[in-house]
Amino acid sequence: MKLYDSIIEKTQTILHSAGTTSFPVQGGRIWKDTGESELIFARDAAFELGGSQNPSVNYTCVTTSGIIRQDEILCCGPDLQQLNTDSPFARIVLLEVEDLRETQDSEKAYDTIRSIEYVKYHVFPAGYMVRVSAATNQEQVRVSRSAVKAGISFRYIGYTYIRKYRKIPAVKHVRVIFVTDRAVVQQLQPLAGKVDDITKTLTHILDGLPTDCGHCSMKSVCDEVEGMREMHLGKH
Ligand code: SF4
Repeated sequence: MKLYDSIIEKTQTILHSAGTTSFPVQGGRIWKDTGESELIFARDAAFELGGSQNPSVNYTCVTTSGIIRQDEILCCGPDLQQLNTDSPFARIVLLEVEDLRETQDSEKAYDTIRSIEYVKYHVFPAGYMVRVSAATNQEQVRVSRSAVKAGISFRYIGYTYIRKYRKIPAVKHVRVIFVTDRAVVQQLQPLAGKVDDITKTLTHILDGLPTDCGHCSMKSVCDEVEGMREMHLGKH
């Protein structure tokens, strides 16, 4: 599946010119996952990511092109130990998956897309209260003072996400990217809407939408995204 490849390429280009820090995944440490959303009161917060009018964006792209070759955690901008005030925030996840189309099993493809979507909303690191808005593609995080004191870092949060995604059988590699640099978050923001359009169209295709391009509301997406129409019409 190459539907998201142009977005992945644009994301990588933006991050490459801004510069990133890569954290080792080997021997990584999982930050405790509380299993459910934890309420952190404002009085207990060290700072918020993506809150207080700061720009915020979240999106996830999948590919089968072999461009995500290993698990990786990247950070662009200050890490959590370096922040002492509210900050802009982006969390981007790029996933290398098995070729879902080659399996000829649309149920498997559907389950995989659903499982990937599920993980997006179901990682609950201790002292790290996440609020994701599907409607606006924003993610806000309130980080507790006690978590900062305990040494919380994107390095551990990233590893916690990777471990969760890797439980999905079709997922081969995961790149989790955290951004707190304002200019970079702003550059990434417009890409989230395009990711949304692709995911919605893909879900409709997997849902069994009739192949009538002349009367289809997804036509503009299929006109723009390479491989989408071929996928629906069953051409390889
Ligand atoms: S291929 Fe045609 S029918 Fe299928 S989603 Fe795209 S525009 Fe709609």
